[in-house]
Amino acid sequence: MDFKRVCEVLEDIEAESSRHAISDMLSDFISKTPPSELSTVLLILRGTPFPPWDQRELGISDKLVFKVLSQLGGQTEEELNRILKDVGDLGLAAQKALLKKPQTTLCSQSLTIGQVMQTVQGLSSLSGHGSQNKKLAYVSQILSNATPIESRYIIRLMLGHLRVGVGDGTLRDAISKAYGVDASLIERAFNLRPDWGEVAACARDEGEPGLSEYGIELGRPIKVMLAQKGEGISQIIQKLGRCQIEYKYDGARIQIHKNREKISLYTRRLEDVTAQFPEIVEAAKRNLNADKALIEGEAVAYDPKTGRPQPFQNLSRRIKRKYDIKKLAESVPVETNLFDIVYLEGQTLTSLPFYERRKRLESIIKESADFHTAKSLVTDDADSASRFYFEAVELGHEGVMAKVLDSPYQPGSRVGYMYKVKPVMETLDLVVTGATWGEGRRASWLGSYLLSVYDTETGEYPTIGRMATGLTDELLAELTLAVKPLITKDSGTECFVKPSMVFEVAYEKIQKSPKYGSGYALRFPRLVRVRTDKSPEEADNISRVEALSENG
Ligand code: AMP
Repeated sequence: MDFKRVCEVLEDIEAESSRHAISDMLSDFISKTPPSELSTVLLILRGTPFPPWDQRELGISDKLVFKVLSQLGGQTEEELNRILKDVGDLGLAAQKALLKKPQTTLCSQSLTIGQVMQTVQGLSSLSGHGSQNKKLAYVSQILSNATPIESRYIIRLMLGHLRVGVGDGTLRDAISKAYGVDASLIERAFNLRPDWGEVAACARDEGEPGLSEYGIELGRPIKVMLAQKGEGISQIIQKLGRCQIEYKYDGARIQIHKNREKISLYTRRLEDVTAQFPEIVEAAKRNLNADKALIEGEAVAYDPKTGRPQPFQNLSRRIKRKYDIKKLAESVPVETNLFDIVYLEGQTLTSLPFYERRKRLESIIKESADFHTAKSLVTDDADSASRFYFEAVELGHEGVMAKVLDSPYQPGSRVGYMYKVKPVMETLDLVVTGATWGEGRRASWLGSYLLSVYDTETGEYPTIGRMATGLTDELLAELTLAVKPLITKDSGTECFVKPSMVFEVAYEKIQKSPKYGSGYALRFPRLVRVRTDKSPEEADNISRVEALSENG
């Protein structure tokens, strides 16, 4: 298929504001796409060169794009900056800058989606010495064979955001319409194996029966089930009756995949962290008594002297560390508190009730000091539950989780099958989408951060507030370092930031406000911590903000 054809559809979608019409356009296009090209088309429509579980990165910076554009279009950096300021994003800037590039008129053959995808994906394999120049040559070559409109979408694809308003929710509905299958089955399949190409192929070829059978594949991370907020421990017992309460450990959720000798570890953001946690791999080899299993737990850093939990930031160092892992593991050792199982010996267990899954989990775990099931209590008595809750908090844990005994495992969803109860006020997980440079002494740091919620339907990030106060110099320097590579446009005072980092933010109040895109504003937002374990798509959405604002 010619890439031009996809670009036409993307242009139509970009110009359309009705969700319904977008969904119709997409489903029509998907149903007409030949089977062999479906997977590539879906990757392009999602605006990412790889499926979400595939962690390869292209490493394309705005600077590199600028260089290519100025080589091909002949503009100076200053002129390009002016164009960018005018049109708002690098894709459109490329389209405009390349309007008069000489090669365009010489193009005789159309680019195919296969050629575009091969080049874009190929960028991820270039690393090390001289790779920037090679990337420059690759990008330059594909753009010189592209029309200006194709350049707009190629650049956006390389930067990982198409800006046409197609999120996973829209793709789910479009695939459902295209093949006449139930949207919830599509969503479930995607959460078990996050790859639209595979899910759509199953929907097309096997329909609802195939999707109902869709299972987990070891070595591929799943989108895990998420928790809802519980008001307080007594209210939860009142609501759920007899349930299982567990310590809520303050660490990082880890999926442990065991396929005979091979152990792989993933975070809830689907990142592969196998190399970062050799002690979990070893513990799983020794103490997980099954050939094939996918179990879940919370990895917590503990103080080797006192045994008490270490702050989350220390664990986050372990997650990011790529070298000297053994050494860091000595000062920041982790223990794994296991709490669920979703796959065992060839069977996906998501439809089993929680108490059955827990029994299976216990039956295959050899309990040891650093690899054990989460401390739990099954009760319908509010007093025992409260005692358990205070015990958890006193031991330095975050609070408790309350789980519905007969609930299935619903991957990827924040359903009412598990509730978290914490003593602190509910915080919000928000995405950084902009920042402002500081002034005076703080001029070289980003001093305030624009925060956004995630819109599941459109894949966009409407704003909700700006966080400036309460940041120490040290923290500002650290945050600046982390946010700087994500800047997509910089006016010198204000910058746009690629949605990637998630901040957990506390606040005094949520108020309705026309000032921000979400329709809400936070009063006195302050940073609790950086959620390195969360992807921007896992940030809170407007319905959660709405719910909290009503509560407040
Ligand atoms: P939150 O991230 O605040 O929405 O809380 C849910 C998270 O708590 C889960 O994703 C886990 O990472 C973590 N957690 C800690 N202990 C448990 C537990 N016993 N059961 C389930 N999740 C837990």
